[in-house]
Amino acid sequence: MNDLPMSDLAGLLRSATCPACGHHIAVPFLTSPPQPLATLAWPESEAEARGLPRLTLDFVRCVDCGHVFNAAFDYAAAPYRSKPNRMFNRGGGWSKHLERVRRLIMARLPKKPVVVEIGHGDGSFLTGLAAARPAGRYIGFDPHGRQDSDRPNLEFRRELFKADDEFPSVRPDLIVTRHVLEHLTNPLAFIQSLSFAASWLKRGTIVYLEVPCVDRAIEAGRTVDFYYEHNSQFTTMSFRRMLRRSGARIDFVGHGYDGEVVFGFVRLEGERRQAEIAAEARRYDGGARRAQDVIADQLQALVDQGKKVAVWGGTGKSAAFMHRYGVDAKRFPLVVDSDQDKVDTFVPGTGQAIRHATWLKDHPVDVVIIPPQWRARDIIAEMADRGIHPGTVLIEHKGRLIDYFRATHPYRPARPHRPAKRA
Ligand SMILES: [Zn+2]
Repeated sequence: MNDLPMSDLAGLLRSATCPACGHHIAVPFLTSPPQPLATLAWPESEAEARGLPRLTLDFVRCVDCGHVFNAAFDYAAAPYRSKPNRMFNRGGGWSKHLERVRRLIMARLPKKPVVVEIGHGDGSFLTGLAAARPAGRYIGFDPHGRQDSDRPNLEFRRELFKADDEFPSVRPDLIVTRHVLEHLTNPLAFIQSLSFAASWLKRGTIVYLEVPCVDRAIEAGRTVDFYYEHNSQFTTMSFRRMLRRSGARIDFVGHGYDGEVVFGFVRLEGERRQAEIAAEARRYDGGARRAQDVIADQLQALVDQGKKVAVWGGTGKSAAFMHRYGVDAKRFPLVVDSDQDKVDTFVPGTGQAIRHATWLKDHPVDVVIIPPQWRARDIIAEMADRGIHPGTVLIEHKGRLIDYFRATHPYRPARPHRPAKRA
């Protein structure tokens, strides 16, 4: 049970976004004096070693999933450029773990698989898979990894795997990523990007993920696991939570090497909802781009026809309308507003002086454009009260300017309610 006194809450609560689950509240976990890089520095002299920059370790723990992370981590301070990130050891226990993982992967692969490894390092794991099922195609992505391959079905690329570029062209059946996520600033976003790509391409893909697990380190009070390069430290719970938040279906989660490693298989089945939302966004964006030309042409046509035009409103939505469609002060000098506070100020960006709406009574115009469609009804009533009767009122609807009184749109007053006749 929670045995902390209530008065400790103020120092306990930290606002920091969890890399595994996206939760925003964490608590202090381990503060150390600043330390140099622990694995990536490879100093070549005593002086260089002693002079390495000290980096801030501010490990906090997500209160929702138990993930441990360095809130002060800066990816730019971890130089993966030229120095290898040497991982674990070649001991017997580790080999057993790798053999087991290979078997689990093989059991999930089709006869002629396309396999991608993200962060292949020295390439040995992917080479092992390629040897075990030579009919497949194997591609490693690692900006700092091995480059040369001695097998025709195995390719190492010194580049990052980007879901939007590589997913459509490579179309992997399986993606392997081992001991990579704990180095990323945002591992959840990385898996979500794979999940979204699968959704968009309607493609089922299996992903194998493996990271160090700090369950035992926390239980045993170990501190040596928490150094700068491992900014993101998974517990079994935070690993599972990340996978669930990714939109993938969890197939299997297990531990290796006496519980020091947690791994899992997920199936990216392509959550249709995400593809549908993205498709809707594309339709909206495409429509808005087309509208830009259509409405610009309509505005120019008003100028060409010699119409006197006023824009109602000089700030907010009306200003946004003028900015988007290039309603410049030269062609459209007249902007009115019934809000006295706005009168005698100027439209941001385009510079028209804002006049009071009553100006239109003494200086009638042919056309009033009302950018805030949903207020058009009230504004038209207000104009009528003030004795302003423009020939045409235009509003923007579905990518063009339409005639408020004659066109079909949802902003006209509802018909007066008529009670149904009694039967
Ligand atoms: Zn979390």
